[in-house]
Amino acid sequence: DPRIHAIKSKIRVVPNFPKPGIMFQDVTTLLLDPKAFKDTMDLFVERYKNKNISVVAGIEARGFIFGPPIALAIGAKFVPLRKPRKLPGEVISEEYTLEYGRDCLEMHIGAVEPNERALVVDDLIATGGTLCAAISLLERAGAEVVECACLIELPDLKGRERLKGKPLYVLVESH
Ligand code: IMP
Repeated sequence: DPRIHAIKSKIRVVPNFPKPGIMFQDVTTLLLDPKAFKDTMDLFVERYKNKNISVVAGIEARGFIFGPPIALAIGAKFVPLRKPRKLPGEVISEEYTLEYGRDCLEMHIGAVEPNERALVVDDLIATGGTLCAAISLLERAGAEVVECACLIELPDLKGRERLKGKPLYVLVESH
């Protein structure tokens, strides 16, 4: 798709952020370009509009930027998956391992009902631990995860293999 090249060119790569040795993929520069931002959302909407998806689950924080426009365009609800102690209602939690230490995602109980069809959205997949925790939360609520969608994949980290067999759709790869 000719739109992909322009999208990739708008993602800024910042060396040694937030730590030495990390090449940080910065999507804020993509958001500054209305055409590239619109093309990004259009590509996702074209893929998901006729898939009977009832819930888009976005992962804090950048899944909150890209998830809601998809949800609105395809007529699905939006559910935020948040870092611990941010959601005020009763939650279910899923811990996952990071390079150093552990983190956790939470979802409101009752936000997703059994047998809903879910799409999980984030900006980037690295090791896949974050998306794996998101899939577990949705499955514990009884939903079927149809697919995970990210703008960027770091394929060298093989995160795709950790998604419990769920398909992953990405716009660009970064090595
Ligand atoms: P994973 O759990 O190792 O797949 O890491 C993915 C999570 O870390 C996502 O929520 C990303 O937003 C975040 N992340 C990791 N590396 C980057 C990066 O280079 N740019 C933006 N987000 C990143």
